Amino acid sequence: MSGSLKSFQPKEPLHLVTKHQAIDAGLDYLHGAGADFICKVCIPSGGSCCTGCSFLNNGVGCQQRNTSCTAWLCGFLKYIFYEAGLITEWESFWDQVPGQQFREDTTPPSFVVDRMLESPKIRFLSEAFAEDLKEQIAINYPYWVLEIKETLDRYVDMLMDYTDPEIKRKIEKKLRYVLKDFKNLQLALEML
Ligand code: SF4
Ligand code: SF4
Repeated sequence: MSGSLKSFQPKEPLHLVTKHQAIDAGLDYLHGAGADFICKVCIPSGGSCCTGCSFLNNGVGCQQRNTSCTAWLCGFLKYIFYEAGLITEWESFWDQVPGQQFREDTTPPSFVVDRMLESPKIRFLSEAFAEDLKEQIAINYPYWVLEIKETLDRYVDMLMDYTDPEIKRKIEKKLRYVLKDFKNLQLALEML
């Protein structure tokens, strides 16, 4: 074998996956992360990320599941993934999936990946977060759910972007302050 051919050998085995297998792997992963607990609180409180989408059939759900919406994390899920150390694994899987667009995709029927997803076992963490979220929604002003979702999204993005330990420490401190009343969450975090 020539040297140039050797340099093309992948470090990880390659897998041919269909678009539907990728979406199913994503949905399994989200289930293992307990996303459904949080969505069940968020949606009736007006925080749904599907609001206004033409593919949403009210009371039934999404009529056109795509790779883009499966890969996308709202601020709540991004925070849970951050605490559980899952963000990099999640993002590097979806980075391999072509054709993601806003609320739709042009992902081909099959494509090759070198990393697969293995569903996590952290449903307890999202369940605890969802209990606290429900309590806090009940005692806060309208639109609070949207504000805290955006705040968590912003802080986690900053934590992923910055490398300076002192800056990260300050952002973590702000994050803890925002979630200071999430008592079930604090207990669940200790079990990670
Ligand atoms: S914004 Fe997040 S928690 Fe709310 S419905 Fe969408 S994915 Fe679920
Ligand atoms: S396409 Fe995306 S935004 Fe629209 S209903 Fe489906 S999951 Fe929700």
